[in-house]
Amino acid sequence: MPIPRLFLDQPFRPGARLVCSPDQAGYLTRVMRLQAGGALRVFNGQDGEWAATLAEVGRRGEAVIALDRQTRVQAATPDLWLLFAPVKRQATDLIVEKATELGASRLQPVITRRTIAETVRLERLLLIAREAAEQTERLDLPAIAAPMALAKALGAWAPGRLLLFADEAGECPDQPWGGQQGRARPIAEVLAAAPEAPLAVLIGPEGGFDVEERRAIRSHPAALPVSLGPRILRAETAVIAALAVIQALKGDWRERVEAP
Ligand code: SAH
Repeated sequence: MPIPRLFLDQPFRPGARLVCSPDQAGYLTRVMRLQAGGALRVFNGQDGEWAATLAEVGRRGEAVIALDRQTRVQAATPDLWLLFAPVKRQATDLIVEKATELGASRLQPVITRRTIAETVRLERLLLIAREAAEQTERLDLPAIAAPMALAKALGAWAPGRLLLFADEAGECPDQPWGGQQGRARPIAEVLAAAPEAPLAVLIGPEGGFDVEERRAIRSHPAALPVSLGPRILRAETAVIAALAVIQALKGDWRERVEAP
């Protein structure tokens, strides 16, 4: 069994004894079969990663974790935002999980005209992000913002951040996928020519953006339309593909990785 890894939303200091949530205690004792005295690793998004011990397991399943020492120092996560239109529940869950694994720093659900998801369950998405961060050896969690109307997100855009707009369509309404005219340039080409700046990527809903939305996004001063190739991808595939390309060309996939 690998050494369990937990996110604890509490400050760390040597010798501290921290009580974890009943769900986390259940994960440690029932799923990971950890007993009192067993080793685990913990992180809180600020103080790096620490070696710790499961100090006590109470009758009612409550658990106390004793901090030992810091084993990794906190490192900055790349400043990379994902704006996505919530899709069906499973696909939205997948987007949150994969964006966390791929190192997005902020996830912003945006409501578009063709967004079909009625509600976004933020608590659930936070839990998915936490579990993905625990599993993927991240030292922090991505921020997950409350859903916002697309127009509002564009209107409140902080200057300086580029918005890569994943835009699959051409401009002719009477041709399949809008024809060839007005197609976005390939993402790698756009990134190579882009100035150094923090990045965000915008992925639309299953039915895509409507004509007016597309016009509004394209005319936004921060927007750079990008193509993810000749195939139309599902929204969740487009998220994964775009984040991977961005990390490889502009993000932390360019760094050499040291052995853990
Ligand atoms: N227009 C479509 C498909 C939408 S795909 C339809 O009417 O069904 C969902 C989202 O994924 C799109 O809004 C876009 O942001 C992104 N996407 C999918 N394939 C893409 C591609 N080849 N290039 C750029 N973006 C793409």
